[in-house]
Amino acid sequence: RRDTIYISTGSSELDNILQGGIETGSITEIYGEFRTGKTQLCHALCVACQMPLENGGGEGKALYIDTEGTFRPQRLLQIAERFGMNGPDVLDNVAYARAHNTEHQSELLVAAAGMMAESRFSLCIIDSATANYRTEYNGRGELSSRQMHLGRFLRTLQRIADEFGVAVLVTNQVVANPEGGPFATAANSVKPVGGNVMAHASTTRLHLRKGRAESRVAKIICSPFLPESEATFAITEQGITD
Ligand code: ATP
Ligand code: MG
Repeated sequence: RRDTIYISTGSSELDNILQGGIETGSITEIYGEFRTGKTQLCHALCVACQMPLENGGGEGKALYIDTEGTFRPQRLLQIAERFGMNGPDVLDNVAYARAHNTEHQSELLVAAAGMMAESRFSLCIIDSATANYRTEYNGRGELSSRQMHLGRFLRTLQRIADEFGVAVLVTNQVVANPEGGPFATAANSVKPVGGNVMAHASTTRLHLRKGRAESRVAKIICSPFLPESEATFAITEQGITD
């Protein structure tokens, strides 16, 4: 088995609470409200994953499955500039596909596995993992069916993480958390979509929320019984920074 690699987010504070960055061989979930930086982190990692190991990279290509249509190659170029990387090369190393529905999203994983068998990838992104499931399975009667299919999709992702030693990064939306109570704080007023199925699939869960101005606060969600560490980072022209 190959060693675990930690791919740098670009923020040293955030990397610190992640033990160095997003790890290969498992699923990391980023959830949070709109504009909290989920997609921006995906872009930053697409560039970082290509860098040498000693610079916090994964020495591999990135695969990006986009369900929202928010992927921007131009943004990758901005981030590449920060690290003095060649723009066209960086873009060449990102395999991109738009997933239109859950069926298509699952089919793309088959194609992804084929590509990963051919050349070295270090990162696989699904932005977002749950949006298509929420659109297609709405209504209470469809919840168990939704969870079953989501579970199957996430198990395939875990197999990909294991087999190809890639870091799998999924983004997720949030819904109101009634357990937060009437005096809920910013940290517990929302909960991630996908219930237990999502909770069990992700090894690392990262909750993002807005801070002051361009700053964001990330919190590692491990267990309700463990201390949970927080980090503040910024979204800037250069990507994700301290
Ligand atoms: P959603 O749930 O809607 O998908 P998200 O969590 O994916 O939201 P992002 O799109 O990652 O949110 O983050 C949007 C934020 O990133 C905005 O506040 C925007 O100002 C900031 N941002 C985007 N591009 C840049 C840039 N080039 N320079 C600085 N900040 C940027
Ligand atoms: Mg987004």
